[in-house]
Amino acid sequence: NTAQIGVTGLAVMGRNLARNFARNGYTVALHNRTAARTHALVEQFGDEGDFIAAESAENFVAALERPRRLVIMVKAGDPTDAVIKEFAPLLEEGDMIIDGGNAHFADTRRREKELREQGIHFVGTGISGGEEGALNGPSIMPGGSKESYASLGPMLEKISAKAKDGAPCVTHVGPDGAGHFVKMAHNGIEYADMQLIGEAYQLLRDVAGYSPTQIADIFRTWNEGRLDSYLIDITAEVLSHVDAATGKPFVDVVLDQAEQKGTGRWTVQIALDLGVPVSGIAEAVFARSVSGHADLRESSRHLAGPTARTLGKDEAAAFADRVEQALYASKIVSYTQGFHEIAAGSEEYGWNVDLGKVAAIWRGGCIIRAAFLDRITGAYEAQPQLPSLLADKDFADEIAAAQDDWRDVVAAAVTQGVPTPGFAAALAYYDSLRAERLPAALTQGQRDYFGAHTYHRTDREGTFHTLWGGDKTEIES
Ligand code: NDP
Repeated sequence: NTAQIGVTGLAVMGRNLARNFARNGYTVALHNRTAARTHALVEQFGDEGDFIAAESAENFVAALERPRRLVIMVKAGDPTDAVIKEFAPLLEEGDMIIDGGNAHFADTRRREKELREQGIHFVGTGISGGEEGALNGPSIMPGGSKESYASLGPMLEKISAKAKDGAPCVTHVGPDGAGHFVKMAHNGIEYADMQLIGEAYQLLRDVAGYSPTQIADIFRTWNEGRLDSYLIDITAEVLSHVDAATGKPFVDVVLDQAEQKGTGRWTVQIALDLGVPVSGIAEAVFARSVSGHADLRESSRHLAGPTARTLGKDEAAAFADRVEQALYASKIVSYTQGFHEIAAGSEEYGWNVDLGKVAAIWRGGCIIRAAFLDRITGAYEAQPQLPSLLADKDFADEIAAAQDDWRDVVAAAVTQGVPTPGFAAALAYYDSLRAERLPAALTQGQRDYFGAHTYHRTDREGTFHTLWGGDKTEIES
């Protein structure tokens, strides 16, 4: 009796992924550093399928059919290296290690290279959908070799989420770290989506004067249109939830300090390294950071703000419609930025990532799943070399139709003193891209003045410097 796949690391994610494989008819070998978890899984869920429980690494590896497929689902970072160190010596040429943790793609590249030298395929795999997704169908973003995908692909397709058209939410993203890179960008976009939704909520509350329950209803209506998505759906659920202990809206009793585990921060760090402007994602990460600075906020409560003015009933309803436009337009911008980063990563590391396929496998299972992603897939299918999502005519037309409302909403937020860094950054990005001239020309002049950093001209080829300290003649350098 041998297993087609093995899972080591049986906390929430690993346990549910193992059950998902078993429910789909695969025999699954189980292993965890602390054996109690392994036995607990078999005790609780053993009747869901065929499991082979192993206490030692040797027994675990021996239980796997060859070439072996070994999924690591442990805490990302050093634990992943520790587990690889334990298992790699027990494996043979052609075997596969699938790391489903939230690894940094640079670690994945390093591990892939080291293991490749031993003839082992290392498949860094992004998995999104939380514990529920792991059990019932996540969105899966595998990197690694083509060869490994030939062996793993059919199994991953079986356990993955299915999009509305039935397509499995998994594709071979690209070699080595491509899968983890794309998962990172997914999480960055998720941060931006959540921030934008949060800003919409705050505006509906503070400017339009709606209650959390009323806002939940507004989000439910939006969820029937072009904003149809998992995050809007759960937002309505959270907003309509009432705290049992106090009878107050749940959102009013939760401490307003957002936490983060790091993938959003990585998205911004890597974007800086690649020179990609992901201002919306960056604002989302910084917004969480600001929220967490309790002392700084406490010591700033006395700072002056504008006189607040809540809208009347009719005005409020019209404002809510405008917020929907602002949210949608800002969302297009954050996806534009996220996909730009994936394209830049793909270029830098030679991954050849198909952006349309990435959008397609995010249509189901993952946290940012949304009707909207069908449109992105369509845009890249129509034009694989699309330089930016904003270059797609349909998206450009939608933003054109939304822009007046978008500007009104940002203006209202500024006038009323409601922070909307996401909406405002998205709009500034949009206006920067469309601008005929940017003040970057002045920046170049300043740089040339204080540092002789030189500049280019619009009317002639060459590199120039002005003798600022002298007679201000221009020299070609
Ligand atoms: P945790 O990240 O909490 O990790 C716990 C597991 O790691 C346990 O099985 C633990 O074993 C094992 N472990 C920790 N250190 C070591 C070590 N040094 N050697 C061997 N095993 C070790 O579990 P999750 O299930 O939440 O997540 C697993 C992975 O999936 C993580 O990388 C996470 O980032 C990623 N992920 C999580 C999602 C989520 O929604 N939670 C979503 C997508 C990805 P022991 O029982 O012995 O302590």
